Amino acid sequence: MPRSFAGCWATVGVAMVLGLSGASRGAETEKLRVLLIDGQNNHEWQKTTPVLVQALKESGRFVADVATTPPAGEEMARFKPQFAEYDVVMSNYNGERWSPETEAAFIEYLGGGGGFVSVHAADNAFADWPEYNEAIGLGGWFGRDATWGPYVYYKNDELVVDDSPGRCGGHGKQHEFIVRTRAPEHPIMQGLPEEWLHAQDELYDTLRGPAKNMTVLATAYSDPATGGTGRDEPSLMTIDYGKGRVFHTTMGHADYSMRCAGFITTLLRGTEWAATGKVTMGVPEDFPTAERSRSRE
Ligand code: ZN
Repeated sequence: MPRSFAGCWATVGVAMVLGLSGASRGAETEKLRVLLIDGQNNHEWQKTTPVLVQALKESGRFVADVATTPPAGEEMARFKPQFAEYDVVMSNYNGERWSPETEAAFIEYLGGGGGFVSVHAADNAFADWPEYNEAIGLGGWFGRDATWGPYVYYKNDELVVDDSPGRCGGHGKQHEFIVRTRAPEHPIMQGLPEEWLHAQDELYDTLRGPAKNMTVLATAYSDPATGGTGRDEPSLMTIDYGKGRVFHTTMGHADYSMRCAGFITTLLRGTEWAATGKVTMGVPEDFPTAERSRSRE
């Protein structure tokens, strides 16, 4: 790995567990290479990154490196991941802007045919970075409003693209909730049940953004009884960005949310799709049903 990047590795131990030392990389060439970004977040990224890495590793489909940014207020210019070395970039990051050089490199990578996966609060990040907002399709908080783009949701099983003013970004209290497939023909969704019960999580609502070239794969009903909107809010999306592919999951508030077998399965299949445009991974036996959530150790 480039020497300039070595200082950014807070979780080298994780990378070693995954067999990413130079000696073993040759044996891993058939696996897809994931670069997971963390380092700043209003969530417990130190707890959730290991869950993401474990899921990637246990799938047998991926190898993963973790790139950790400097802490808030420190020199971001030394965060220079080599995006082009990876099949897909995954963000568990919600913090300060990267350097102009790194942001330009990311957009060049993605627009040129790279893959990107946005996990939960990664769609809060970078409200004032237009290309990033286009890549994630929809986002929330940090001053976003209707000028960022429409509020997109489902009502009476119809997709609604709502330009009217209103808040951007919210959630009721955490609970288990049903995730409902909206694009069963999409490779990420093929073979999944139409409805499944997700483990305890935040149910994001009122997300807004450019929503260009975006497909809503699944929604979740945001129940007013738990502080929600009364609408079916997007929970899984894909976005085409230039020649690149983006998978966006709004789920994954905490480690216990991420241990849901439904979260893991959709994340892995979405990551594979973002990397290759295809999905070869199946649906595991412990996938949740509409009646019962299922979580892994
Ligand atoms: Zn959260």
